[in-house]
Amino acid sequence: MGSSAPIHVYTGVVHPERKAIFRADAPPKSMIKDGRKEAILACTKCGKAGNDEQPVKKCARCGLTYYCSQQCQRNDWQNHKPNCSSELGEGIHPLIKSVTGNPMISHYIQLCIALEYSLHRLHGLPAAQRRAVIRQPRSVHIDVGVEPSMIAEFMTLYTYPDDWDKDDMEGMLQFHHLSRPDQWVPPRELSPNDIVIWSQARADADEDGDQECAVVLVKFLNNFKQCITCPFVVDDEALGQARRNMPFTMGSAITGKSTDKPLSVATCFEYLNTHIRADKKNHLLLRAPMRPSDKELIRDAGRQKDEHAPRMLRLKMSREGVYVSHPISALNTVATRKEAPRNQTRRTESANANPLPESRQIEGEPQESTDALQETREPSTMNRAERRRQQQEQKKAAKRRK
Ligand SMILES: [Zn+2]
Ligand SMILES: [Zn+2]
Repeated sequence: MGSSAPIHVYTGVVHPERKAIFRADAPPKSMIKDGRKEAILACTKCGKAGNDEQPVKKCARCGLTYYCSQQCQRNDWQNHKPNCSSELGEGIHPLIKSVTGNPMISHYIQLCIALEYSLHRLHGLPAAQRRAVIRQPRSVHIDVGVEPSMIAEFMTLYTYPDDWDKDDMEGMLQFHHLSRPDQWVPPRELSPNDIVIWSQARADADEDGDQECAVVLVKFLNNFKQCITCPFVVDDEALGQARRNMPFTMGSAITGKSTDKPLSVATCFEYLNTHIRADKKNHLLLRAPMRPSDKELIRDAGRQKDEHAPRMLRLKMSREGVYVSHPISALNTVATRKEAPRNQTRRTESANANPLPESRQIEGEPQESTDALQETREPSTMNRAERRRQQQEQKKAAKRRK
């Protein structure tokens, strides 16, 4: 992170070099654990941050929402009632703590914010004007979800939403889409509660000497069932990487071919999602069991449901290499089924995948080059054992080269 060298990402299933790449990018686990402890909870109603003397308290029924006082809880009840359920457990809360506690992931989120608001292009402005722009209250929404860490399980859920299930599926956090509040229909504004949280974070940043850095509220949104607001300070390292504009080098584990993808919010997300997928041992603390509501979002995406969260998941699928290189028809798990898989629908998804007006669409069309399409054909004719054998051979070849 922070270097000017291009970043290599392998988007295929298992690349022999993936472990080494993962280790090079991941911060030490102890650092993530320490970072998690620094997460401060604030009251859902008034935005006041809890502290040692006056900690915020969980809603006793759902355990998901925090309040500073019974008064705030009472005042928020009408709003909270529809979402007050124990079905989510702690939901994405522990995972978001691992995101904000991880300097590498946090860096990429800052980079995404810088790109989205063009904060890296302000250095030409006169100092006073730049300062005024930098210090405006801002927010972004990031749609996230928990999906199976096994791509085959994800694909089966997506393809057979009404017929397939499995207990004890391991899930992992994934980033789907980033949007600015003015891109929503109708546009969203910072709530009074947001302004309280933002102002506190702004004051903290000033105290730390970051007067010239933007403070942006990130609202991690899990299918509207849970929304976690976290302030991010966009530092010089993030602005520097945005300015250097180095592409990501995405390699395919199947063909071994590399392509450069330009730096954008979408490619940063693909990089982070791939990094999280490569973390087989949960070093990043971003794995969690799949809950019924997590599965339901994937099923809704598979049903082509025309709602925000399933659309954002389909948009992610249309962009990222791992879904393209893992065609649904290649699954052994569903070989006994008679119906034809619904894989044609994926090709036409992008047209209606975005809830935003077309003029505002920022992340564009799915990047399915002819290359990627050829890739999809290859493994579908190969069974798993054969693929594993090929991968082992690749691994040996890689060792021999050293
Ligand atoms: Zn309160
Ligand atoms: Zn509750």
